[in-house]
Amino acid sequence: MHIGIAGVGLVGRVLALNLLRQGHTLTLFDEDTAYGDNAAGMTAAGMLAVFAELETAESVIFEHGKRSIALWPALLAQIGIADAYQQEGSIITAHPQDYSELDHFIETLKSKVEEASEIQLLDRRELTQLEPDMEQHAKAFFIPQEGQVDAQRFMKASSDYLLNHPDVTWEESVKVMDVSVGSIFVENEVKKFDWVFDARGLGASEQVEHLRGVRGEVFWLDAPEVNITRPTRMLHPRYKIYIVPRPNNRYIIGATEIESEDKSPMSVRSSLELLSAVYSMHSGFAEARIVNMVTNCRPTLRDNLPAITQDKRLTRINGLYRHGYLLAPAVVEEALNGGILK
Ligand SMILES: Cc1cc2nc3c(=O)[nH]c(=O)nc-3n(C[C@H](O)[C@H](O)[C@H](O)COP(=O)(O)OP(=O)(O)OC[C@H]3O[C@@H](n4cnc5c(N)ncnc54)[C@H](O)[C@@H]3O)c2cc1C
Repeated sequence: MHIGIAGVGLVGRVLALNLLRQGHTLTLFDEDTAYGDNAAGMTAAGMLAVFAELETAESVIFEHGKRSIALWPALLAQIGIADAYQQEGSIITAHPQDYSELDHFIETLKSKVEEASEIQLLDRRELTQLEPDMEQHAKAFFIPQEGQVDAQRFMKASSDYLLNHPDVTWEESVKVMDVSVGSIFVENEVKKFDWVFDARGLGASEQVEHLRGVRGEVFWLDAPEVNITRPTRMLHPRYKIYIVPRPNNRYIIGATEIESEDKSPMSVRSSLELLSAVYSMHSGFAEARIVNMVTNCRPTLRDNLPAITQDKRLTRINGLYRHGYLLAPAVVEEALNGGILK
């Protein structure tokens, strides 16, 4: 089939990779350049926090998250970056005055899914065996099944792969005005396809009811004095942070969560909260260099869950909220198995 995809952020790319494997020919449309600098998928930390996200999410997230974790390695291998996947577990800790918060967090996860009983309590000695640089912390939990995808590498490598693929035409910097059965409307033209997908994230808000943006801000720090190798969360009654390691002592520190579609630069309040929290977690961050500060919005539906809607020759996928990397491969698989394209 000749298939049109409107929006080539995270979902659009995962769709395109799957559809190429099935032998289809694709035309991709995005209002951004092919390097996707404005997509939420480019801002994301890429954590595959299948358990930790359960604190505020439904168990459907858990099932899809587990499936996505199984699917990511093949997707990354397809675009030549199998090493952009890490599944060596994650750490959750807190300062001693917040241990009740930490215990409550883990109890909440255990009350939601049986598998959470595999989460391990660590004392200082056990923690430093895993992460020698975290000796400051006397108590933590280890979630062996969690991991991360290097989101920025995924975005870059998928651009290169799709741009060079003989069955892909990429219409860059083209704003899609509407998507309907078999048609993508761009400026004054209607492009016809055998099937179309709407994967515009927040850009689909005129066609997707109850879609809203949830603002998130992150720092990128270069911290030669810090050697943390796994995604790590620090709980706090007011602001929870995560630290996601990238190669060469680079860390993504995030993320705020604010009910707003404002994508303007990071506020003073957010920067103070994120940086104080990260410095209190490891004093080696004092001399870190701030190499980037990024703001974006997570496309979110009323129930904070993803939605696939299908009509004849039209599929919309949206609402991946803060779980795009955790869920996209499984959600796309479900959309493609849903009787369409047959
Ligand atoms: C700060 C932050 C941290 C995050 N961290 C994580 C994490 O650790 N783990 C995780 O699982 N998820 C994380 N996420 C969530 C994840 O990034 C999103 O769920 C995911 O990117 C949503 O994918 P999407 O394809 O729907 O939207 P996007 O990735 O935003 O892609 C939408 C694409 O559509 C294009 N578009 C929009 N409108 C139009 C139009 N009219 N015409 C043409 N093109 C259009 C845009 O240019 C864009 O390329 C994070 C998000 C943020 C903001």
